[in-house]
Formats: sequence, structure tokens, C-alpha cells
Amino acid sequence: MKVIVIGGGAAGFFGAITCARYNYNAEIILLEKSDKLLSKVKVSGGGRCNITHACFDNNQLIKFYPRGGKELKTCFTYFSTNQTVDWFESRGVKLKTEADNRMFPVSDSSQSVVDCLIREARVLGVKIMTSFPVGGIERKNGQWYVKLRGGENMVCDKILVATGGSPSDDSYNWMRELGLEVVKPVPSLFTFNIPNSRLSGLQGVSVPHVEVRVEGTKLSHTGPLLITHWGFSGPAVLKLSAWAAREIHDMNYNFNIHINFVPEHTEESLREKLHEIKMEHSKKIVSSNPFFEIPKRLWERLTNIAGIEEEVRWMEVPNKSINKLLEELLRGNYSVKGKTTFKEEFVTCGGVDLKEVDIVTMQSKKQPGLYFAGEVLNIDAVTGGFNFQAAWTTGFLAGKSIAED
Ligand SMILES: Cc1cc2nc3c(=O)[nH]c(=O)nc-3n(C[C@H](O)[C@H](O)[C@H](O)COP(=O)(O)OP(=O)(O)OC[C@H]3O[C@@H](n4cnc5c(N)ncnc54)[C@H](O)[C@@H]3O)c2cc1C
Repeated sequence: MKVIVIGGGAAGFFGAITCARYNYNAEIILLEKSDKLLSKVKVSGGGRCNITHACFDNNQLIKFYPRGGKELKTCFTYFSTNQTVDWFESRGVKLKTEADNRMFPVSDSSQSVVDCLIREARVLGVKIMTSFPVGGIERKNGQWYVKLRGGENMVCDKILVATGGSPSDDSYNWMRELGLEVVKPVPSLFTFNIPNSRLSGLQGVSVPHVEVRVEGTKLSHTGPLLITHWGFSGPAVLKLSAWAAREIHDMNYNFNIHINFVPEHTEESLREKLHEIKMEHSKKIVSSNPFFEIPKRLWERLTNIAGIEEEVRWMEVPNKSINKLLEELLRGNYSVKGKTTFKEEFVTCGGVDLKEVDIVTMQSKKQPGLYFAGEVLNIDAVTGGFNFQAAWTTGFLAGKSIAED
């Protein structure tokens, strides 16, 4: 059996290695269009590779995937985070868990992951060919023809497509030519640009717990918020950008958000609390004594926006300013105009529609002998090691079923 794996990233390598492990007689060729292997693994996690996440309950794990969670629930019963840990540790890549449950190699170097995957593939006899861009694939007389850009063809019995995500719709045309449905790709994981924000100048300030809501929708997420030079970032914004990737794309990245700096409060309880503070701290200067765990610089700005002058004490604050402060704390309105990719750790929302593949074997339902793994599928997650986990899992399932089929 001759197998061609298209794409030398996390999913392609894991698929090729698994196939080779489960079928020693298979001839496996991995084609990578660039001259570099595993380039995203190399740069990932700031060069440390956030390889997976210490979440060992699959019901919890799937909650981190805006697209593909339901289908991955089945996949994870075969290969999940604990198998990823075992797989790498048994091959000499010891892992550690950070406080936020992200897992990294103990070496703090992605190179140890890259080296492990390349070594394993070579030991198992996978033939790796770089600078081999594939221009298309075709099925004739029960065999697959892989079109190389020089006009040549390579013939094989089975193909694993692991070409990764792409925000360009055209890059999925060869899937569509095979009659497969592709969910239109749009970017995920980005931060919000807020030009001329009334919080400008506060870059670096972070608030531990806020709710960010897209105006006019039910889309909202909670978590830490970071004020940047250009707008807002931090987990609350990144989660929202992932879960609302398509809706925000359809709004052309021009939309309003409401920020709630006190999500533990209702309007009523917040109003009560502000009046209570006014009574109990009547002699304190408002702007220099923050409440609600809001950092001092931000509190100063919010009270200033509410019309409370620098030296004003709580007893001097008129109700009008209390109302304005309540509005700013509970639903401050900001206009988003554009996005910025988060440390370039972007992923693609969209790709080959999951209804096209058998979710246990990763084989195309319409095209026998054609398999998919990784981000080329309509699967993506928030940050934290979940995207690589999806690549390891789907690569494993595709490789094993190609080997055993
Ligand atoms: C900068 C950055 C940092 C990231 N950090 C993390 C992290 O720390 N943790 C995490 O979980 N996720 C991270 N991600 C996301 C993660 O890297 C991807 O989800 C993951 O790499 C997907 O693996 P893949 O094998 O499906 O695709 P890719 O890694 O994109 O690999 C696809 C490969 O296919 C090749 N290819 C494409 N088309 C062709 C063709 N026609 N012919 C031949 N070859 C082709 C590409 O050149 C590429 O090498 C990061 C992403 C980025 C961009």
C-alpha cells in the first residue's frame, strides 16, 4: 500500500507516523510544499510549543472548541490529551503543566517536539519530501493521482490531506472539485482595534474579570481583559473572537461592544453598592480609591469619564455622575474598527465540512481512500494547546485507519 500525506505540519506528521506504526508494509511519502517541516510547531507558544492542555475530562475538553467540539467528543474517546502526554513522554519529550493548565515540553523549547516527530518518522521509514507543493488530486480507476506543480503526477492508494487552515477560500478549491463541501474560511483568534478609545493611554492595564458583549447579539464572553496600544486583548476578547468569528467577519470587523467591569453585579445591586460606598466612604477622594478590583489607572479614567473631578470626595458626587459611572462600569460602549491577529497565533474557522468525513476513521464519505486531519477540517479552538490536540487526535485516527483499512 502506497500512502501520500500532503502537509508536513503537526497533523501530517502524526498521521504519517501512526500509519507507519500500525502498518510496517505501507510505503508512506510525506509531501511538504515549503522547505521547512513543522514550521508552526517550531514557532508555537512563543517558541516553547503549547503541545496540549491538562484537561483530562473529554466532556470539559470539547467546550474549548467553537467548531468541531461535538465531533471531537467521539474522536477523543480514541486519542485524547492523556494519550498525547504518554505519546510524547514515552519518546523522551517530558512535559510540564503551567498554572493555567497549558502543557509545554520541560525543555521549554519547541525544537524538542520538532526533533521527536522528525526522528520518529525517519525511524519508521516515512519518506519526507520538502519543496513539493501539491496542486490537486484526482481519482482514476481506483487509484489516486497527486498533481505536483511541475506537471508530474504521483500515484498512490490512499491520501491523507493535512494542509492546515487558510483564510483564502480558493485554497480549498481542490476539495470542492472532488464534490466535497467546504465551510467558508474566516480568521479566528484576534484582538479588537478601538481607534480613539476613551481608554487610550492605558495600555498594559489588565482587569481580572470582565464580560465583553457584542452589541445587538447574545454573543458574550467573560475573563481577563488587557488594554493594548490599539484596543482590547486578553482571554475575554480572544474567546469572543473565536466563538463569534463568523458573525464578526460578517460585520466586516466593524461593530460595537459593551464591557462590563463588574459582571458579578446586576444594575440594581451595583446602584445599591455605589450609594453604599458614597455613604461609608464619604470623605474619601473618589478617583484615587478604586473599588471592584479595578486597577487604579483605569478607575481614575472611568471616574473622570463620569465627570468626577480629581479631588472630589464621595459626599460631593452628584447622582448624575453616579449614574454615568454605573453606565461605564456595567456597559461601557466601544466601537471596534478592525482586528489584529493575536501574537500571530491565528487559526482558521471553517474548512472541510465535518459532515463529509467519517469521524472515527477521518475518511471522506464520498471519496474512498481520501482522509483528512488537522486544521484543514472545520475544527478550531481557543488558545491553550487545544488546536494541536485536535491535530494529534485527528492525525492519529486518520493514520491508524489508513494503516488498518
Ligand atoms: C504562530 C502560531 C502559533 C501557534 N501556537 C499554538 C500553540 O502553542 N498551541 C496550539 O495548540 N496551537 C497553536 N497554533 C495553532 C496550530 O499551530 C495549528 O492549529 C496547527 O499547526 C494545525 O496543524 P496542521 O498540521 O493541521 O496544519 P499546519 O501546521 O498549518 O501544517 C500544514 C502544512 O501543510 C503544508 N501545505 C499546505 N498546502 C500544501 C500543499 N498544497 N502541498 C504540500 N504541502 C502543503 C503547509 O506548508 C504546512 O506545513 C499556533 C498557530 C500559529 C500560526
